[in-house]
Amino acid sequence: MISRAKSEALFAQALNYIPGGVNSPVRAFRAVGGKPFFVHKASGCRVTDVDGNEYIDYVGTWGPAILGHAHPKIIAAVKAAADFGTSFGIPNPREVTMAERICQLVPSVQKVRMTNSGTEACMSAIRLARGFTKRDKIIKFDGCYHGHADSLLVKAGSGALTFGNPDSAGVPADFAKHTLVLPYNETEPLKAAFAANKNQIACVIVEPVAGNAGLFIPKPGWLEFLREITKANGALLIFDEVMTGFRLAPGGAQEKFGITPDLSTFGKIIGGGLPVGAFGGRADIMDYLAPLGPVYQAGTLSGNPLAMAAGLAALNELSVQAAPKKVSKKDTMAIARLTGANPKKLGNRTQAIPYLQPSGKIVPGKVTAYERLEYLGALLENAMRDVAKSAHVPMTFNRCGSMFCGYFASEPVWNLADAMKADRERFKKFFHGMLDAGVYLAPSQFEAGFLSTAHSEADIEKTVSAAATIMKHL
Ligand code: PLP
Repeated sequence: MISRAKSEALFAQALNYIPGGVNSPVRAFRAVGGKPFFVHKASGCRVTDVDGNEYIDYVGTWGPAILGHAHPKIIAAVKAAADFGTSFGIPNPREVTMAERICQLVPSVQKVRMTNSGTEACMSAIRLARGFTKRDKIIKFDGCYHGHADSLLVKAGSGALTFGNPDSAGVPADFAKHTLVLPYNETEPLKAAFAANKNQIACVIVEPVAGNAGLFIPKPGWLEFLREITKANGALLIFDEVMTGFRLAPGGAQEKFGITPDLSTFGKIIGGGLPVGAFGGRADIMDYLAPLGPVYQAGTLSGNPLAMAAGLAALNELSVQAAPKKVSKKDTMAIARLTGANPKKLGNRTQAIPYLQPSGKIVPGKVTAYERLEYLGALLENAMRDVAKSAHVPMTFNRCGSMFCGYFASEPVWNLADAMKADRERFKKFFHGMLDAGVYLAPSQFEAGFLSTAHSEADIEKTVSAAATIMKHL
């Protein structure tokens, strides 16, 4: 039995001073039971707790750690920047580089404003959309999370066309009544909502791949439909790419699916693990912001030099093609076992990093971070499907690039209503089994998992083999 005595003592102490012992609710393990562990250090794809237990981490600080934890280039960039001061409240050159970089990577973004969190980015983008369109109402989708601003902590009303109810105490019903919450991946409710609210909808905000209720992927044509219906009704389309931005492709989900939103929100990866957010889009809309325009938005620490340095280092590293490097024998054997390939054919210790070609063929070569992540994702997905099938455990494994969710559900999951059918009790047992086997998954059935370029084939094999053992007893 693993000891987490030091974590338990810290949690007991934390409960005295921090509500629920945590600074963000999901960390409290409420959805899975038990007590959270406390981290001593993290490196690559591994976190080590204060009791010395090591875990392969599939949470990756909820998305930012796409290059793994404590990436040497990010750490060096932060250290170098810190020597020159930690905050100025005066423009600094890195803000300009970051803005230029985001605009280059995401062509729909002509101008961008930095914030300190994804919540701020989404809240500000919505205020801007309302100011620009001079309309109050907004549409969001059930199961999408856009941070904890008042007008976004809203759940669906009693009928498809009724405006929402507060999803948290403290959110005035008067605020919630401007937010309409509709089912993800459906078209008819949207048509009806626009018809019933002619010239009143300021914007539709959506996670283009929804990663806050597990993971659901947009049905073919759905994002295109959002683009058309918003345009036809003079409403803005906001892609919340706080999670998907710079993760699903260099230009995020909008690049992957070929859609041009009016505004986008970002966070996570562009802070390299430091607090950050950003929102940007069409220049004519962005110029509505103060000091040019009438929509107010501000931040003491926005564009913070340490966050900019860390984020720029992360973006630079993501743009580099990994040169062929030695793959350990352990990894070569893991690839062979995971794919059924002949290890001799895969090469030896000097083999280049393998990746998955669009044809499905695995070949060694120079790879982008995104090709590598897709390959690792495919390995994990295929192996997890096989394991669940062999154990006769119904599992719907949704994956988009390096984001995934294994729902304990027998039917496809396209939206929140489908996700809610998943067997949460089974997930709890699975989660704790995996944790005790040294694999840290997000502590809820309704969260996405994240791969990083620091995960290796051997890590995935270890994960899958732990899953195989645990699933036999679920
Ligand atoms: N939008 C999405 C899609 C997110 O996943 C999150 C956080 O997980 C947010 C917004 C809020 O970001 P933050 O936690 O930085 O405030």
